[in-house]
Amino acid sequence: MEPLLANKTAVITGGASGIGREIAHTYATQGASVVVADLQPEPREGGEPIHEIIDDETDSTATFVECDVTERGDLEAAVEAATDLDGLDIMVNNAGIVGPVGPIQDVDPADFQQLLAVNVEGVFTGCQVATETMLEREAGGSIINMSSVAGLVGYPNITPYSLAKGGIRMLTYGLAGEVGPHGIRVNSIHPGVIETEMTTTDFPIIGGEDEDAALEAIPLRRFGQPEDVANVATFLASDWAAHVTAESIVVDGGEFRT
Ligand code: NAD
Repeated sequence: MEPLLANKTAVITGGASGIGREIAHTYATQGASVVVADLQPEPREGGEPIHEIIDDETDSTATFVECDVTERGDLEAAVEAATDLDGLDIMVNNAGIVGPVGPIQDVDPADFQQLLAVNVEGVFTGCQVATETMLEREAGGSIINMSSVAGLVGYPNITPYSLAKGGIRMLTYGLAGEVGPHGIRVNSIHPGVIETEMTTTDFPIIGGEDEDAALEAIPLRRFGQPEDVANVATFLASDWAAHVTAESIVVDGGEFRT
């Protein structure tokens, strides 16, 4: 069987670490050429840059573009790198931060603005830049926006994050309606607790004092791994999801609906 993403080219923002890194690797093993767009090539969790691993260990091509998603020009450069490879087929707007943690009264306006810049504006501009290129190319495409279960239900003490992730979901639905007639699909993924630096360091659910309770709330009784999300992102990017758009897929071991 042909690999799921043969002859496709993808940009993955925040692709150096965590979930994005695993998406980059899985896409490459499924035949895609990959542009890793991130602030830095080194993963937050340590180890070799993923674009080097892909080049060394798979038959796919990978390139790194230094990209801050709050800068339109950086996102344009990432998409241009995909165009140089073979044309943009898949855009994964994955880069995100936790932002301010704590009661709403304690949220510093500057931190709130930074959260919006990365998690909302970064995804919005990523969608804008990607659709512009995909529409010009007239070859359809798949856009995947990384939301969260915090974009579906309220999360006390990370209200700015919840606000942003809910916004990503609505952006996804509206844009899917706009560009669907051109064969461009737009979907969002809503991970639960996935083991990355975000959940072990920035907002330490794993290893924190509430770890046991958090685990107890998950019917499948384990925290997610980046590959759990990467597998869904691969399905959504592939032709196996050819009739799936304006959808939000939850990857949380059953926590949110039980
Ligand atoms: P992570 O911190 O491990 O990785 C995030 C990556 O994004 C890093 O490589 C970082 O350098 C990059 N990044 C941060 N700001 C950026 C910017 N301005 N421009 C470009 N790149 C930037 O986090 P993760 O857990 O892999 O999270 C990836 C995405 O998944 C985020 O959008 C996050 O909100 C979402 N998510 C994560 C979880 C989880 O439990 N880990 C759950 C739900 C949603």
